[in-house]
Amino acid sequence: MKAVRIHQFGGPEVLTYEDIPDPQPRKDQVLVRVKACSLNHLDLWVRKGLPGVKLPHILGSDIAGEVVEAGEYVSGITSGQRVIVAPIYFCGHCAKCLAGLQNQCREFTVIGNAVDGGDCELFAAPATNIIAIPDSLDFNQAASVPLVFVTAWHMLVGLAGVRTGQTVLVLGASSGVGIAAIQIAKLFHCRVITTAGNEEKLEKARTLLGADHGIDHYKQKISDEVRKITNKEGVDIVVEHVGAATWDESMKCLKTAGTLVTCGATTGPNAAIDLRHLFARQLRLLGSYMGTMAELRDVLSHIFAGRLKPVLDRTFPLTELRAAHEYLEDSRMFGKVVVNP
Ligand SMILES: [Zn+2]
Repeated sequence: MKAVRIHQFGGPEVLTYEDIPDPQPRKDQVLVRVKACSLNHLDLWVRKGLPGVKLPHILGSDIAGEVVEAGEYVSGITSGQRVIVAPIYFCGHCAKCLAGLQNQCREFTVIGNAVDGGDCELFAAPATNIIAIPDSLDFNQAASVPLVFVTAWHMLVGLAGVRTGQTVLVLGASSGVGIAAIQIAKLFHCRVITTAGNEEKLEKARTLLGADHGIDHYKQKISDEVRKITNKEGVDIVVEHVGAATWDESMKCLKTAGTLVTCGATTGPNAAIDLRHLFARQLRLLGSYMGTMAELRDVLSHIFAGRLKPVLDRTFPLTELRAAHEYLEDSRMFGKVVVNP
């Protein structure tokens, strides 16, 4: 099959389109013909080099495609079925997995991170990861969903315990996690404040996603605007994934006993915490990584019913994966970038 692999870590130039042997699925696996695979910031981190990644390596976490064949031990999945592959890799038999906490499994990783991903023509997946999709969702839309929506659902619903009517600040309206988090917060009838780097993106956040207030993070100071919007009270929940560039502002935006939940550090990992603020203001800081299979099923039920919508920015052929990486790295997108083998 054709695949894009990396043989060394580095810039987009290390992405190499080449012929490799087809995967040989086990009897408990399903072979999927990849129709679409979306990019995530994780792809950029893995390409630049993360511990645990064995070379050569295939990137790509969010796979949508068609079942080629299901192994002998697999039931309920048939050839030709349109599916997504849950991007969650786990052992399936430890205490955490059996408790439904797959993202706490010792073997947990994201597909495309410590195990090969979907930037290729064929992918062999455990049957438990195969989820059928309705005809209303095309492959590009379907591939735009799993990683960012399960991440945002776990952050807001699983960890922060979002409640109807709260005020939520979502950083980075145009990012995959931002787009998912704004919609999920609106599903809970929250007031949503969001940030982006230009007015065009903020307008889309309001009209497409339902955000109530937009802050231009280049022209305005986030905490000042949040104070104005909330009448000096602050927000109940901050959804963080930007990291060093916004951390201080995010902390300042919380109301007393507010919750900051973070799943990433796109602009850098080092941030300071004033411990006096942490205890005196009774803040909660939560770290989040992906989500569970049950949470993925929960959030997908809202996608399939049309209550939450994938937002696709553009597609590239798999042969142009380098250009797709550059496009994501330049933050030119509003929504997901998808490649088609
Ligand atoms: Zn496990």
